[in-house]
Amino acid sequence: MISLQQLQAAIKERIGSYYNAQFYHQRQKLCVDLLQSMGCILAEDITAPFDVPRQNLSSMDGFALAIGSQLAEGTHIEIVGESQAGQPFDAATNQHIQGQSLHAGQGVRIFTGAVLPAGCDTVVMQEHTNFEQLKQNQQHNLDKSQPYLITLSQAAKSNTNIRQQGDEIKADEVVLSKGKRLNPTDISLLANLGVAQVQIYQPLVVGLLATGDELVELEQPLTSLAQIYNSNTPTLKALLSELPVSIKDYGILKDDLAEIEQCLTTAAQQCDVLISSAGVSVGDYDFLTTAIAKVGKINHYKVAMKPGKPFVFGEMQRSDIKRSAVQRNDTDTPVQNTIFYFGLPGNPLSAVVSCLQLVMPSLWQMSGVKVDDVPMRLTVKATLTTDIKKSTGRLDFQRGILTQLADGTYQVTALTSQQSHRIKQLSNANCLIVLDKDSGNVAAGAVVNVQPFKWCLA
Ligand code: AMP
Ligand code: MG
Repeated sequence: MISLQQLQAAIKERIGSYYNAQFYHQRQKLCVDLLQSMGCILAEDITAPFDVPRQNLSSMDGFALAIGSQLAEGTHIEIVGESQAGQPFDAATNQHIQGQSLHAGQGVRIFTGAVLPAGCDTVVMQEHTNFEQLKQNQQHNLDKSQPYLITLSQAAKSNTNIRQQGDEIKADEVVLSKGKRLNPTDISLLANLGVAQVQIYQPLVVGLLATGDELVELEQPLTSLAQIYNSNTPTLKALLSELPVSIKDYGILKDDLAEIEQCLTTAAQQCDVLISSAGVSVGDYDFLTTAIAKVGKINHYKVAMKPGKPFVFGEMQRSDIKRSAVQRNDTDTPVQNTIFYFGLPGNPLSAVVSCLQLVMPSLWQMSGVKVDDVPMRLTVKATLTTDIKKSTGRLDFQRGILTQLADGTYQVTALTSQQSHRIKQLSNANCLIVLDKDSGNVAAGAVVNVQPFKWCLA
């Protein structure tokens, strides 16, 4: 049986051969408001409309000194006005210099983010002057409408405490490029540049379907003891909510080959990706594998991991391009589209693990995100506090509780029951303990690889 790493690599290669640069070149774009672009993939290069900072600004609260001023400790500077953030010093209207430029020995009270007045070449922090003392001497009622003298309480240097115009970003510079997954700090950057709308790639359409005669949708009553709720669809929706995808929910299908085949055929017309749960084992009513083999093809079946051994990676074709993510080209030649298919096991815990390990990375790859911007999977080394039972032959994901110790190292405790139907255990866990295919039992004290759940990270 293929190993998880081999399957991950094979899926990546197959998807990469279809979702390539050419594909993204043709992919439809949407123009959305900045906040709506959060988590989406940028489909254009963004250039700065202006320099940042737009002018020379002060990076401190203090005093801007005129060019040529003495900077030695004890120097007196005459302060003739003020430059506030949003209200720059204006030499033309300043009654003390009356349109003249500031001359050496003069300065302007200035605040962080305020424009450096023309004719000044340095800012002295207010803590490096006698300003506090001056205010105290005057019972905090310093009359700033009149010029006043400050004294440098330590030597100053020219060209300090100034954010130079264009120092960080030059006008027309590309600040974010196509394929960037937009995160809150990108939103900050774009908002700083006044970018109110951006072009993103149209989200992939991901179809979800659940199969099983025993399944009932939430909010419907369970009318027999043989019924259970369809938890996989809401779970998958929750897991995929961080991805730039739009979901098409095909609901619950009966364990009926014809019905399943019909749904796959429809989904192939409407989606870019289809994910089903259940019906991929070897039971008499597991029809998904048969159906996908008829409607499309199976590239890989089963993977040597626990939970999650029954897993299908397949694909279907569609020659109509109406609902495709690929734009209609000028000629009328029909474009052949590939719809990738992931058949997850029905067991809710297995479905979660398979989705995390095999589906999410694939959907990121299809999303158009740049390779170096695919979200990282964090794996940490942790010391086991308990013995773990495991047989060799399959990679095992056990549920655990990871804690960080005062010295920064991690320890992990495996939850007591690791049976794969234990859904409460999964909800109690904050990580998966990853045990190698070849590993047998592991004793307390051993160092193991752990993947924290991203929703448990701050
Ligand atoms: P199957 O793969 O059809 O043999 O299903 C494996 C187990 O998962 C069975 O116990 C099913 O009842 C259960 N199961 C299948 N689909 C779902 C679902 N959508 N939600 C919750 N449990 C499910
Ligand atoms: Mg079933």
